Amino acid sequence: MAFNMELLIWIAYLGAALLVILGLKFLHSTMAEVREIGAPGKKKDDAAPVASDAANAMATAENIIIVPGYGMAIAQAQHKICELSKILQEKGVRVSFAINPVAGRMPGHMDILLAEAGVPYDIIFDLENINDQFPTCDVALLIGANDIVNPAARDDTSSPIYGIPMLDADKARQVFIIKRGQGAGFSGIENLLFSGDNTRMCYGDAKDEVQKLIMDIKSL
Ligand code: NAP
Repeated sequence: MAFNMELLIWIAYLGAALLVILGLKFLHSTMAEVREIGAPGKKKDDAAPVASDAANAMATAENIIIVPGYGMAIAQAQHKICELSKILQEKGVRVSFAINPVAGRMPGHMDILLAEAGVPYDIIFDLENINDQFPTCDVALLIGANDIVNPAARDDTSSPIYGIPMLDADKARQVFIIKRGQGAGFSGIENLLFSGDNTRMCYGDAKDEVQKLIMDIKSL
């Protein structure tokens, strides 16, 4: 009887140890997933194939709108973006640049950088002249942009950025967004565009990611 009791206690100990190990394994894999996704509730971003998907989508698009934001200025990616636009045009893609008047950190910030890089003026459009073209645009490529494409500015009357000029990039058929991670914009508020159904996140420094796009498109 005593022997059976001892055996039962050992079995109970072993069972408990097994449960603890399984629990720890579950916790570990959950934490790994959270780290990969960035935050609970965000959709998973399959980082590896996004750049090549973006390259394919852009090379086969009829028209593309590129939206530069403050991150383009930080990365000094304007020359690479100009190069990308030329390569796409050579493939017969119609490329336009959309400028939000509050993009960057000073009036005209994006215009100055694009002009410095040699982007022709006739493919650069102010918000009021391009916003209605997003719904018929195959790909919107957002580079280091956040607040200027936040739908809360248009749709959420309780948002602190409600009413600021907003580019309707979320209405494009496909949206690719290049930024380094989950960093907030100037306003510090969440941007639901980043988890939209037609949105793919392409994480990395703007200059490096655009360079990868150029290489991928050239190799197609
Ligand atoms: P933003 O809201 O400041 O967002 C810029 C984004 O760029 C960040 O979310 C950041 O995300 C990303 N980023 C930073 N470094 C990067 C890099 N090296 N490569 C790729 N991405 C990078 O910029 P915005 O959309 O242009 O909006 C401008 C904001 O500034 C507005 O809120 C506007 O009201 C305000 N503002 C404008 C002026 C003006 O006169 N234009 C003046 C003052 C304030 P990650 O960290 O994840 O990369």
